[in-house]
Amino acid sequence: MTGESIGIDLGIKNLAVVSTGKVYKNINKTKKVKQLEKRLKREKRKVSRKLEGNIEKRDSSHRPIWKRPLRECKNIERQNQKIRSIYKKLTDIRNNYLHQITREIVKTKPSRIVMENLNVSGVMKNRHLSKAIAEQKFYEFKRQIKYKCEMYDINFVEVGRFYASSKICSQCGHKKADLKLSDRIYRCCECGLVIDRDLNAAINLANYKI
Ligand SMILES: [Zn+2]
Repeated sequence: MTGESIGIDLGIKNLAVVSTGKVYKNINKTKKVKQLEKRLKREKRKVSRKLEGNIEKRDSSHRPIWKRPLRECKNIERQNQKIRSIYKKLTDIRNNYLHQITREIVKTKPSRIVMENLNVSGVMKNRHLSKAIAEQKFYEFKRQIKYKCEMYDINFVEVGRFYASSKICSQCGHKKADLKLSDRIYRCCECGLVIDRDLNAAINLANYKI
């Protein structure tokens, strides 16, 4: 595929779908990350139990008055260290994954990489997904792609709101007005194309004409 223009569609179900058909999964759905998230929750619960147990009473504005000053509570400090180390592990896993993917994509030496402006993509408008988005670090992904494009002399193009990459048929160009966010498969009523929604969007981005 060297020399081609490629499009990358970012999403929740999969982190990235490339117009070449390559799919990069959402790492937050892997067993390893899920286990760490679970452990994190457990350790956080433990620390809040320890804090509760150390409350003597509360003052008039409901602030706790401690039995022992917190800085003397070695067990709480140890617990917080445990939590910090799990956070660090998660951050490292996510960052390494992003570096691995973005490196792999630019190493295919496309002539151009096209992505959608994140502020206007459908997923960013959905507030329920905001946690997943923060975890997936869409912005970090784009930042890495951008500077790696510079390193490898690849043209980076960002596409704005006016380009409906998910609504256009990547085969015939027909624009579908009634595509819902929940429609995972794109079906074209004009030419009959049936294609994964994200792949369709990625191909449209790849074919984007400035
Ligand atoms: Zn079509």
